[in-house]
Amino acid sequence: MTGLTIHELGAAYRRGETTPTQVVAAYLARIERLDARVGAYLTVTREAALRAAAAADARHRAGTPLGPLDGVPLAVKDVLCTRGVRTTCGSKILERFVPPYDATAVERLAAAGAVLLGKTNMDEFAMGSSTEHSAFRPTKNPWDLARVPGGSSGGSAAAVAGDLAAGAFGTDTGGSVRQPAAFCGVVGLKPTYGRVSRYGLVAFASSLDQIGPLGQDVRDAALLLGAVAGHDPRDATSVDAPVPDYAAALDGGVRGLRVGVPREYFIEGMDPEVGRAVREAVETLRGLGATVEDVSLPTTDYGIAVYYVIAPAEASSNLARYDGVKYGLRVGGAKDLIEMSSRTRAAGFGAEVKRRIMLGTYALSAGYHDAYYGRAQKVRTLVRRDFARAFERVDLLVGPTTPNVAFRLGEKEDPLAMYLNDVFTVPTSLAGLPAVSVRCGFSAAGLPIGLQLIGRAFDEPTILRAAHAYERATSWLARRPSLA
Ligand code: GLN
Repeated sequence: MTGLTIHELGAAYRRGETTPTQVVAAYLARIERLDARVGAYLTVTREAALRAAAAADARHRAGTPLGPLDGVPLAVKDVLCTRGVRTTCGSKILERFVPPYDATAVERLAAAGAVLLGKTNMDEFAMGSSTEHSAFRPTKNPWDLARVPGGSSGGSAAAVAGDLAAGAFGTDTGGSVRQPAAFCGVVGLKPTYGRVSRYGLVAFASSLDQIGPLGQDVRDAALLLGAVAGHDPRDATSVDAPVPDYAAALDGGVRGLRVGVPREYFIEGMDPEVGRAVREAVETLRGLGATVEDVSLPTTDYGIAVYYVIAPAEASSNLARYDGVKYGLRVGGAKDLIEMSSRTRAAGFGAEVKRRIMLGTYALSAGYHDAYYGRAQKVRTLVRRDFARAFERVDLLVGPTTPNVAFRLGEKEDPLAMYLNDVFTVPTSLAGLPAVSVRCGFSAAGLPIGLQLIGRAFDEPTILRAAHAYERATSWLARRPSLA
C-alpha cells in the first residue's frame, strides 16, 4: 500500500480497493518502523493525519473526492509554515517555533484533500546540498544509508524514495529540489520563479526561492505542481498567469521538439558514469523523434560564483529577523539588547548559516557592494541572456542535474567542494527558469543518476511532457531501494 504512485493511489480510492485511512495508517506504521534509520522527518503529525484521512474517507465514500490528491499522504519540508505545527527550518533558532498560519502551498494542499504526514528534515535554512547541515540530524539516502540524500530538501527526497510519503514538497533556491531528487532517484521539479506562492515559505534568498514537488514519477510531479501553482495576492512575486492542467499536458511525446544539449554541462571532473547516462538519455529522446542540437551557455562557469554572492547577500538580510525578539530562541542573561541578540544568534545558528551571513554581509557592505553584489547582479543578467539565446533555437535544454551521484556522509567537509555540486542547477535558478530532474540510470554502485530538463519561463508543460516521454520509453523506475 505504501509503494503506489499518487495516480495509482487515486485510482485505487476510486475503485474502493483501499481507503485514505488505511493508506495513511500504513505510511505512519512504515515511518515508525523505518524512519529512525533514514531520518527523513523532523515532525510526524500522526493525529492530524488520521483525522484528515477520515475526512477523505467520507468524501470518497460519498463519491465526491476533491481531486487527484484527496486522501494522498504527503510530506512537506520544514521550511513551509504549518499552522499549529512546529516549523524549525532545520535550525536551533526555530526549534520551538509554531507558526500561527499556513503557507499558501500548505493551505492549497489541504484544500485539495492531501493528508500531511509531517515535516521533513533539511539543511539549516535550506543552505546546503546534503542535509548534513540540519541542526538536528542528517538524513540518509534510502539507496545507501552511508550516503547523503542531497539537499537541502533531503528529507523530502528521502521520504519519497523510501516510500515514507507518497509525494513531497521541497524548496529550490539553487538546486535544493532537483539535486536531492537526482541523488534519491525521484522526480523533482523547480517551477518558474513566480509560479508558486512563497507566502509562508521562510525566506532564504527571496529572488531565487521556489517551492517544488517531488514524486515517484513525472505524472505525480505534475499533479502535485498543479495543486500549488497559481497567483496569490499575498506574494507580490507570484505571477498572475493561468495554470495549465499539467497532467493533461503529459501526452503527445517529443516528436518535433528541439532539444538543446549545453556543451558546458559536460565538464572535466564530473563522474563519467553521469556523463554517459545523460548522453544515452539524449539519444533516447532523439530516438523518440526529438531533434538534438549542441548549444552553448558560456556563462555556466560563473554560475557558482554569482549564486554564492547573491544568495548569501539576500540571506544575510532575510536572517536579520532572528534577533531573539520576534521569533524562536532567546538566550537570556545578557546586559543589553545587542548582547542578547548576538548571544542568541551565536547559539542558534550553525556554522554554514554563519558563514553565509558573513559572506553576504561582506558582499553588501559599503565599499564592497559594487565589487561583489552589484557585479554579481550584472553577471546574473548575462546568465539570463545565455538561456534566452539558447531558447531562440531550441524548446528545451537537457543535461545532467549534478556532476556526480550521491556522495558519502562526511565526504565534503570543505564548503567549496559542497558548493561545486550546484554547478548545473544554479544557472537556471539565477535565470528563474523551470527545470525538472528525472532518473536516467544508475552508477555501477547502484546509485541513481539524474537527468535535468530545463524549459522556458512558464513552460513547465514542455519539460514535463518530454520527461514523461523519456520515462515511458525507459525502465529505470522499475528499480526500488530496499530499507528492509
Ligand atoms: N545547495 C545550494 C545552497 O547551499 C542550494 C540550496 C537551495 O536550493 N536551497 O545554497
